[in-house]
Amino acid sequence: MVALSNSSEDACLVINAGSSSLKFCVFQSGNKGGGSAAEIEPVVTGQISGIGTAPRFEAKDAARHKIADHSWAAGENPGRPELLHHLLDWIGDTLKGATLVAAGHRVVHGGTRFSAPVRVTPAVLDQLEELIPLAPLHEPHNIAAMRALAQVYPSLPQVACFDTAFHQTQPWQSQTFAIPRELTAEGIRRYGFHGLSYEYIAHRLPQVAPELADAHVVVCHLGSGASLCAMRGGHSVDTTMGFTALDGVPMGTRPGAIDPGVLIYLMREKGYGADELEKLLYHKSGMLGVSGVSNDMRDLESSDLPAAAEAVELFCHNVAKQVAALAGSMGGLDAVVFTAGVGENSTLVRARVAEKLSWLGVSIDPAANRAKATRISAQESRVPVFIIPTDEERMIARHTLGVIAAAQLDRAA
Ligand code: ADP
Repeated sequence: MVALSNSSEDACLVINAGSSSLKFCVFQSGNKGGGSAAEIEPVVTGQISGIGTAPRFEAKDAARHKIADHSWAAGENPGRPELLHHLLDWIGDTLKGATLVAAGHRVVHGGTRFSAPVRVTPAVLDQLEELIPLAPLHEPHNIAAMRALAQVYPSLPQVACFDTAFHQTQPWQSQTFAIPRELTAEGIRRYGFHGLSYEYIAHRLPQVAPELADAHVVVCHLGSGASLCAMRGGHSVDTTMGFTALDGVPMGTRPGAIDPGVLIYLMREKGYGADELEKLLYHKSGMLGVSGVSNDMRDLESSDLPAAAEAVELFCHNVAKQVAALAGSMGGLDAVVFTAGVGENSTLVRARVAEKLSWLGVSIDPAANRAKATRISAQESRVPVFIIPTDEERMIARHTLGVIAAAQLDRAA
């Protein structure tokens, strides 16, 4: 177990739990009490994969060198509590003298109730259970990790940080589907996701370009899941994902927006049930479905197959279309930001999207784009364009330490 005394530095564990994997990151701060979130830095990152089948524990240090790689013997199949126990023991052995002050979790859905990070309690966990139908593929695993950690280490404060929370500032018209009001009242509305990523960018952009603090900005979070967010003065005013993480632009294996009539057609004419639709929409569509070869942009870019090139083109077309749609939604466009796996790394995708937005005054400098500079727009571009690497884990650690520090202040008052 992690040393709780004789420790010199506070550490915050960040957990991103999926169906069969659990990614983690430990941030450490030089300040006892966890008050200064600005000074935290990641000291180890890693993941437990193969949960439920063949678990494997891997970790890297801050220089990205592998410092742990452990698989369990065939026949052994430790569950989440045992795996978290292993993680906590390993952190205790590896970060000698560290005090683990809290764990922060990425939680996909906060519904209408949670508009800010919250300390995890049994009541909060019960309220999160009620949100499972809104995010059936993610929420149960987030909750399972929080319950398992509470079982293994009951005295460790845990904080839930929501992917939906950042979008709670959106105006009514951005959050509402044109459906009967009683359905909206039940919670069938647009929530939006990737909020922790957008929140990080909202903090980072004014450091990179102070003149844009109040600007109309479209942030393109393009990873294996992809969405775009319209931000005014650092607040979300619209986004492409909606009730679930299926809406918006095409993704690795999800189609993005699709005429709902297609789903009725598939049900009526081809006998699709909910499970088949879910498989089609979450796992078989997007870049994978269109290309027939891969969901990974790197594979598509290096492939000679026409279908791979078509998939990339369809992706860029829809991203550019949504940049324009969001500019229209917020009534202006002062900057575009690319982030996440594809947005940060794909020179081709950024170039194609910018080309399609040239009518809006977007123009990028090819050399700056290839070099992955922070500002990649050409001198004459009316709209500056940036690459800003996202850091959702840091955002979770900041929130977590902030919630803990606020609770300490409350107790002291
Ligand atoms: P996730 O949504 O899983 O967090 P990421 O933001 O890490 O995803 O993005 C992962 C995706 O980024 C990969 O599936 C791959 O398509 C894309 N990617 C990573 N590196 C590159 C690269 N050099 N060129 C093009 N695409 C890349």
